[in-house]
Amino acid sequence: MQAEIIAVGSELLTPDRIDTNSLFLTQRLNHLGIAVARKTLVGDQHDHVRDAFRSALDRCDLVVASGGLGPTLDDLTREAVAELLGRKLVLNSSVLQNIEARFRRLGRSMPEVNKRQAMVPEGAELLENPRGTAPGLWLESAGRIVVLLPGPPHELKAMFTEKVEPRLEPMAGATRLFYREMRTAGLTESEVEQRTAPIYTQYPDVQTTILAAPGEIQLHLRAWSSNHPAAERMLDEMIERIGFALGENVFTSNGQTLEEIVAREMAINQATVATAESCTGGLLAERLTRVPGSSSYFRGGVVCYSNDLKTAWTDVPAELIESKGAVSPEVAQALAQGIRRRIGATLGIGITGIAGPSGGSPEKPIGLVYIALADANGSRDRALRFPGDRERIRWHASQAALDMLRRYFIYARHGKPSWPTVVQS
Ligand code: ATP
Ligand code: MG
Repeated sequence: MQAEIIAVGSELLTPDRIDTNSLFLTQRLNHLGIAVARKTLVGDQHDHVRDAFRSALDRCDLVVASGGLGPTLDDLTREAVAELLGRKLVLNSSVLQNIEARFRRLGRSMPEVNKRQAMVPEGAELLENPRGTAPGLWLESAGRIVVLLPGPPHELKAMFTEKVEPRLEPMAGATRLFYREMRTAGLTESEVEQRTAPIYTQYPDVQTTILAAPGEIQLHLRAWSSNHPAAERMLDEMIERIGFALGENVFTSNGQTLEEIVAREMAINQATVATAESCTGGLLAERLTRVPGSSSYFRGGVVCYSNDLKTAWTDVPAELIESKGAVSPEVAQALAQGIRRRIGATLGIGITGIAGPSGGSPEKPIGLVYIALADANGSRDRALRFPGDRERIRWHASQAALDMLRRYFIYARHGKPSWPTVVQS
């Protein structure tokens, strides 16, 4: 079974709004074993909407659409589809009562315009909308299925999982999409490609994509198959072989974020961490605290942007800053040691660097960042050169710091002190 998605809404054709509904729908449809062949974005114009549905129905068995079911004049999906399929719109009194009741519960009377939402194309089945006013619609015509869903994402998601998936499931057939995702830190995209291509090219039935984000390279493996155990086995085998080729650079094979992996290591090792950040402005602390339960390992941190606060808050000697410069390995180490001691954590992290766009020099170019990690035995630093603008450099630095924490525990387990390779992408 193949599907197409149509997202209706003029706002989706502006720079202000992005069509996220189709991402959700694609994920859920794939999960059911239904491939998405095409997506269409169309503005709120009757003829354009009607034509989008016409072309989609010429090509595929299932069209899932979002948006344009509201009460206002620009909401015209219902009308356009009814016209296309040659169905009359009929006022459905029970839908009308539901809408009226919903307004009463909110202490208001129903505006006249909302009556439009009770207009149902002949032969359409209603998909109840517990989170909004407009019901969704399920239409069948000449062996094709059209599903109309409301635009607001929380309404669409609930309606699709609760009302549409159970109907699609029995029709979808045995073919399913099987999926794995592996994430690495500390390697470039081309390094990941070089190490893994000899493996993944041996699996022509698996679509392998390598996606790069700052400081993180992801491998996505997808396979459509009706032999479920065989597909699972094949992907497991690939994950194992690729994992072997990438070694400790892989931080997850089940979609966890780097901060979640660090959180787990912290908990297992009963470690705590404190941060002293300069160029990342608290981004590392922010990411460490994204994980629920972070209070058990994140003690706290400071953003010490100015030199005097580096001294006042983390005891970095003023002479050290004077002689080596605020962006130096020595100051990074002093930040890490100082914050660790001051806050009383088992580990301390210090970050200092030049995020740009100004402030670079030939010796200390933009993108140069020193990150140090201190434990009870001392500290070590890494000098890193990150590409990109201020935003990317700061993100890269926070990523590298999290990865240093992760590797600290891995290397401790294997009894070798070591740091990640220089990240440059
Ligand atoms: P309403 O009754 O709220 O008018 P509707 O079905 O008419 O519902 P739209 O008017 O098209 O839906 O969209 C309502 C809101 O839902 C939009 O302002 C937008 O924020 C969000 N929305 C619509 N389509 C999408 C989409 N494809 N992806 C993400 N958000 C969307
Ligand atoms: Mg609307």
